[in-house]
Amino acid sequence: MEPQGYYAASTAALPPALPLRGDIRADICVVGGGFTGLSAALHAARTGAKVVLLEAETIGYAASGRNGGQIHPGNRKEQAELEAWLGPQHAGDLWALSEEARALVFAYAAVGCDLKRGLVIAAHNERMAQALAEDAAHLESRYDYHALRMMSRAETAEALGTEVYPAARFDGGGGHLHPLKFARSLAGQARAAGAMLFEHSPAHSIDGTTVRTAGGSVTADHVLLACDAFTGTLVPDVAPYIAHVESFIVATEPLPTDANVLPNDAAVADTRHVLDYYRKSTDNRLLFAGRESYWNVPKDIAPVVRPRMLRVFPQLADVAIEYAWSGTVGITRTRMPHFGRVSPRVLFGHGYSGHGVALTMVGGKALAEAALGNPERFDILARVPPRKLPGGPFLRKPMVTAALTLLKWRDLL
Ligand SMILES: Cc1cc2nc3c(=O)[nH]c(=O)nc-3n(C[C@H](O)[C@H](O)[C@H](O)COP(=O)(O)OP(=O)(O)OC[C@H]3O[C@@H](n4cnc5c(N)ncnc54)[C@H](O)[C@@H]3O)c2cc1C
Repeated sequence: MEPQGYYAASTAALPPALPLRGDIRADICVVGGGFTGLSAALHAARTGAKVVLLEAETIGYAASGRNGGQIHPGNRKEQAELEAWLGPQHAGDLWALSEEARALVFAYAAVGCDLKRGLVIAAHNERMAQALAEDAAHLESRYDYHALRMMSRAETAEALGTEVYPAARFDGGGGHLHPLKFARSLAGQARAAGAMLFEHSPAHSIDGTTVRTAGGSVTADHVLLACDAFTGTLVPDVAPYIAHVESFIVATEPLPTDANVLPNDAAVADTRHVLDYYRKSTDNRLLFAGRESYWNVPKDIAPVVRPRMLRVFPQLADVAIEYAWSGTVGITRTRMPHFGRVSPRVLFGHGYSGHGVALTMVGGKALAEAALGNPERFDILARVPPRKLPGGPFLRKPMVTAALTLLKWRDLL
């Protein structure tokens, strides 16, 4: 099975990028060909910098080519929480970056990425419906964000074609796209701007600002690490800050014309910690994600996700699942992205915690700008204090598993 499931089957191939061979010099070496690395390469190359990007597998191979495609405005943490934690100025700066990220994703994905407007956050209980309404009022009064509208139980059922939610919040500022098409489109835009992309070129070590692969090396003025969940493998000092969660997605066969599923065609995410998130593809399949694991990916993903899908859409009992795949989400303890410097000229940005489709655009831009001498955006991101995951190298996995399992149980309250 294709690692990127339906997305690989529905995206035109990129002109292949060769593996790195030999020793080359660049202004900026980007490691990682997902949204962050591609955005960094694109922004840097557009200034005329000589940019080389190294991707271990193929462009968009990891989270960026497998995700739910949902464009979520704002940050993963609510603004009121950020204000209490970081102060109103810093929280406001982070909101401004998230708005810039949203504008960038809608601009860069405008052509050929199946981009659509409309996002629904579905409350899984009355308490969360109330919390969504309070957050909406806060965003409206404090940040002038007017795209949100609460929906009653009946309106939600009509918009989504399911009766499982007591209420929901429509967000006209959000939306969805085809993530692998977007990754490949960004790669095309970066190449057109002059960036050199190498695939099948895993970086195995960094010595100063020289990045080495099996076939060669890149010596650059700056190195930008954009490996998300995998950054810790290359730079062990960063590993205590990033946890892995495997998230599972299925794609049905094209839905029958009379199936009442997402008539409003928005992307939907519910409010649980281990959430259901779903949307329709342009060829009218339901792409449904639910369940995750912290250790293993089951051999057969479809039977794991199908019961969650049928709980929301029992009308799909006779509809076949044609694709199933998983992806690794890099999450931080704070649920905010983690940006910083390994050394003065080696920078990293990762850990969008399931909220990266838009934020990676500004994350990559911030990395590129910092390398080119303007660290203003980078510093806003890097000033968010990171927190280490508990447990040290040996107990980290079991302790993170225990913490996340606890959150799963809280969903039942
Ligand atoms: C299943 C799933 C569903 C998600 N759904 C959503 C969603 O609906 N909305 C949302 O906002 N976010 C979502 N996310 C999160 C979002 O996809 C990520 O935040 C985002 O794609 C991160 O992009 P990135 O470029 O930082 O990392 P990645 O896309 O993971 O890219 C990192 C790249 O680095 C490469 N790499 C790693 N190590 C090396 C090395 N040593 N040398 C060279 N290359 C290396 C990898 O192969 C990979 O291509 C989801 C994530 C997953 C996995």
